[in-house]
Amino acid sequence: MNSAKRQEIFLRLQAANPHPTTELEYHSAFELLVAVILSAQATDVSVNAATRQLFPIANTPQGLLDLGEDKLRDYIQRIGLYKTKARHIIQTCRILLEKHGEAVPQTREALETLPGVGRKTANVVLNTAFGQPTIAVDTHIFRVSNRTGLAPGKTMLEVEKKLLKVVPDQFKHDAHHWLILHGRYICQARKPRCGMCRIVDLCDYSNKEI
Ligand code: SF4
Repeated sequence: MNSAKRQEIFLRLQAANPHPTTELEYHSAFELLVAVILSAQATDVSVNAATRQLFPIANTPQGLLDLGEDKLRDYIQRIGLYKTKARHIIQTCRILLEKHGEAVPQTREALETLPGVGRKTANVVLNTAFGQPTIAVDTHIFRVSNRTGLAPGKTMLEVEKKLLKVVPDQFKHDAHHWLILHGRYICQARKPRCGMCRIVDLCDYSNKEI
């Protein structure tokens, strides 16, 4: 795919949704961090249902430590891997309290030392809470990047590096959200909705479902 096509893809995604953001609900960097940890292999809808109950009770590292791991589990028990996630969140709260004055760190290195926080989670927090032009590649972005020819790659990391190289600077901050939403609602895994796709004429996929 050439750079003119890439530019046009993002122009159209931007025109349709000028201020995209995550579908996770949050009011602080810490709430976002917890929500993103919870969202691994879970839907944003299920995470929001849990955090709507949890955050009014506890939404700081100290608050969650006071709540305790057992009670935290009760709030998140409908989310996959909830026991592991509860343990990671409590461990993360302890580190934030002891090493970061309760603040969420703003560097990838510091974020990735937190239990339950990998490269993707760090990218989401850096982008969405702190405005950095990172691109967190999830299953949707991986699929869309490969199908369309926007940034083909065999691994998440390969696709991320390619996207960082080829996405025009003016779109870098929001690219992550546009591509996730496009994958979630239009370029779906089993049956892409090519007939409704606003970039159908720019996409290189050879098996379009029209
Ligand atoms: S045309 Fe089809 S395959 Fe290409 S991006 Fe749109 S939905 Fe996905």
